[in-house]
Amino acid sequence: MRENVDVLIAGGGFAGLTLAIALRQALGPSFAVTVADPALGKSHADDERASAIVAAARRLFETLGVWDAVSGEAQPILDMVVTDSRLDDAMRPVFLTFAGEVEEGEPFAHMIENRFLVAALAEKAQAEGVTLVPRAVNGVADGLRTLGITADIGIGARLLVAADGARSTIRTNAGIATHGWTYDQSAIVTTVGHERDHGGRAEEHFLPAGPFAILPLKGNRSSIVWTEAKGEAARIVALPDDAFHAELEQRFKLHLGEINAVGARRVHPLGFFVARSFIAERIALVGDAAHVIHPIAGQGLNMGLKDVAALAEVIVDAARLGLDPGSPTVLERYQRWRRFDTVTMGIATDGLNRLFSNHSDVLRLVRDVGLGLVDRVPNLKRLFIREAAGLVGDVPKLLRGEML
Ligand SMILES: Cc1cc2nc3c(=O)[nH]c(=O)nc-3n(C[C@H](O)[C@H](O)[C@H](O)COP(=O)(O)OP(=O)(O)OC[C@H]3O[C@@H](n4cnc5c(N)ncnc54)[C@H](O)[C@@H]3O)c2cc1C
Repeated sequence: MRENVDVLIAGGGFAGLTLAIALRQALGPSFAVTVADPALGKSHADDERASAIVAAARRLFETLGVWDAVSGEAQPILDMVVTDSRLDDAMRPVFLTFAGEVEEGEPFAHMIENRFLVAALAEKAQAEGVTLVPRAVNGVADGLRTLGITADIGIGARLLVAADGARSTIRTNAGIATHGWTYDQSAIVTTVGHERDHGGRAEEHFLPAGPFAILPLKGNRSSIVWTEAKGEAARIVALPDDAFHAELEQRFKLHLGEINAVGARRVHPLGFFVARSFIAERIALVGDAAHVIHPIAGQGLNMGLKDVAALAEVIVDAARLGLDPGSPTVLERYQRWRRFDTVTMGIATDGLNRLFSNHSDVLRLVRDVGLGLVDRVPNLKRLFIREAAGLVGDVPKLLRGEML
């Protein structure tokens, strides 16, 4: 006998686990949700990445009862400075500053190391009665899809959600193409310890090879997302410690005192793509399976959480009316809600990267005048902060901090 559930989620990263928790909390134990991922139960201790969790995403985690478990590890971003200079410029003039609150007492973002958040989500999913299966799902076994699908691991479901990341096999096997391109850039990610307190300040230094971001973590540590041309990034991470340190210091500078790289160095190739469709028959794509964008604005995961909040809302609305969560009407509502917004954000981050990652002095002048103007118009600045915090547009309930 095959096992049957209401929703089978392939992928137990941020997107998959968050969706599972949201569905169980809203629809209760009679709504069966399974998450399948070969990495479940494995340690994430070697994941060097940290993410900026914007205010809307924090509201979602608070509503789902996950935030308390990680808030002790989360560093609020209290302000942000943006500079634009050449690598060897002695001075880096500040063109834009943001004080970081969207509402009184609510920072526009927190930095948190990925491993803490994934562990807290897995624990919460288990506590909510989500079934966790440590296996890969690669797609749908052949057969009729009128009442549901059967995944290749023998689990039947009314809806299969692909939350299996950028190289989604479910997306490929469902025949969904992607639009996009790879950048000739990679991001070097590491953690840096420094003598002095960062005071909760995030820094984005636009250098000709790409942005160099210093993002505050708990303690005297910062997460570095350092964009370079692909070949140069590969050369830099392979350097011996002292030569790597010299490259790091040239970009980080010494305003926080002596620095040292305290974490492993990793390189991530960068690309931009959006799936041609976010849905197929009884299938929905969320998170990186649906889109990947340049990390210049730190919005990739936050966009994935917006997919999750929107999909959870349409499924819950349908299930409460006794409708089938995998029906075309439900899936089309999800796609209408998310696809256009995703394309807009993807193009905006791509444009930002092209505008800043180059050696043109004319473009530098243009963008510095632009940044200076934004800095002088408080209402425009406030709009930018609310947009970056995920609070503008048709925001799903969970991201507004409302229960489903
Ligand atoms: C350098 C860098 C910095 C970034 N910084 C930020 C930031 O500051 N803020 C932000 O919002 N975003 C950031 N991002 C983006 C963010 O990390 C991703 O968008 C996010 O991790 C995507 O989450 P996900 O759950 O969709 O996918 P993933 O985290 O990739 O999870 C996919 C899961 O699916 C599993 N899986 C794979 N194949 C299968 C299968 N066949 N069956 C079942 N399971 C499978 C994997 O084991 C994995 O657990 C950054 C990205 C990069 C590269």
